[in-house]
Amino acid sequence: MDYTAKLDTALNRLHEEGRYRTFIDIERRKGQFPRAVWRRPDGTESEITVWCGNDYLGMGQQPEVLAAMHEALDATGAGSGGTRNISGTTVYHKRLEAEIADLHGTEAALLFTSAYIANDATLSTLPLLFPGLIIVSDELNHASMIQGIRHGNCEKRIFRHNDLDHLREILEGLDPAAPKVIAFESIYSMDGDFGPIEEICDLADEFGALTYIDEVHAVGMYGPRGGGVTERDGLAHRIDIINGTLGKAYGVVGGYIAASAKMVDAIRSYAPGFIFTTSLPPAIAAGAAASISHLKNNHFLRERHQAQARVLKARLKGMGLPIFDHGSHIVPVLVGDPVKCKMISDKLLEDHGIYVQPINFPTVPRGTERLRFTPSPVHGPDEMDRLIRGLDDLWGQCALSRSAQTA
Ligand SMILES: *Cc1c(COP(=O)(O)O)cnc(C)c1O
Repeated sequence: MDYTAKLDTALNRLHEEGRYRTFIDIERRKGQFPRAVWRRPDGTESEITVWCGNDYLGMGQQPEVLAAMHEALDATGAGSGGTRNISGTTVYHKRLEAEIADLHGTEAALLFTSAYIANDATLSTLPLLFPGLIIVSDELNHASMIQGIRHGNCEKRIFRHNDLDHLREILEGLDPAAPKVIAFESIYSMDGDFGPIEEICDLADEFGALTYIDEVHAVGMYGPRGGGVTERDGLAHRIDIINGTLGKAYGVVGGYIAASAKMVDAIRSYAPGFIFTTSLPPAIAAGAAASISHLKNNHFLRERHQAQARVLKARLKGMGLPIFDHGSHIVPVLVGDPVKCKMISDKLLEDHGIYVQPINFPTVPRGTERLRFTPSPVHGPDEMDRLIRGLDDLWGQCALSRSAQTA
């Protein structure tokens, strides 16, 4: 067996389809976000501005977060030293779980090493807890939810994105006696649109289903204390399982679910993705807890974040660029051509010191290739001016239309 040839075949397939991924090597500069140093493959470096990061609020350089991490690191060392069950549960983990449960107003919360793992481990474990479970899932759910549903090996149904009629039609066709979960997101990260949370909760009530929401792109950023869109809209109590990340707006790493004490107890006891892996380092848990706590009391930062997104959208629309505007903090600019999308991204980086990753198929459908900007409170007016000038220049160079049409 020629294993190397098989690897070549697999990699060549990606190259042929234009799907081969190259990573841009950057090093962020603490205290100077969103500035970073870009290291080219030839070893040369230059300063750039990051416009596509998910550290939405700049919490990765927040002094209280760093102080909490330093303190825990000096107090307890590098790693946790074990799985949660075997010597890896510390006061830092317990404190963070309490902080998360308080954030969402739930009885309990459960930490995972990432929100990806939290989705995968939880969704794949639910069928063990509810035999005969049917998971009804939005077609645009994140890869981690799709993987979790697959790994659960239970019956699944996919409803068209945000289509409540289709969801109802599916629910009506299911055995009324079967246990069901409706799985969806509060903000879909590629279009920046919101899920119809209240209406989905109504359908869940009507058909006796549990609700599972991914709030990864909302926690820290929406709601009076950062509890996400479910907090903003007063709907958290209607959700059975809330999934969130500590790696995006909270600026650290890790993931979680927040739910009833019994649900958390059951997932904790049955999910291999929780049980058989080393727990997060205490310093990470300490930093994440400090970040959540800080953002509970800093609504100003959330308002500045939203204001930045509004300003950027208004300026892009003013230039006639086609953007998706669903009123969230995510600013996708439609290019609609994979080659031009990559070219604009390359030129922004090389000629303007602006880093925005092109988003092509299969992350988004063909023909909707886009640049996805994530303005934050740490982006200054000069940086925004430079972005606008750079995009204006390249839009002309690529002969792209300025339809001013918004989604
Ligand atoms: C990034 C992302 C995740 C995974 O979060 P991590 O903590 O980075 O693993 C889950 N769901 C959605 C919608 C995401 O965009």
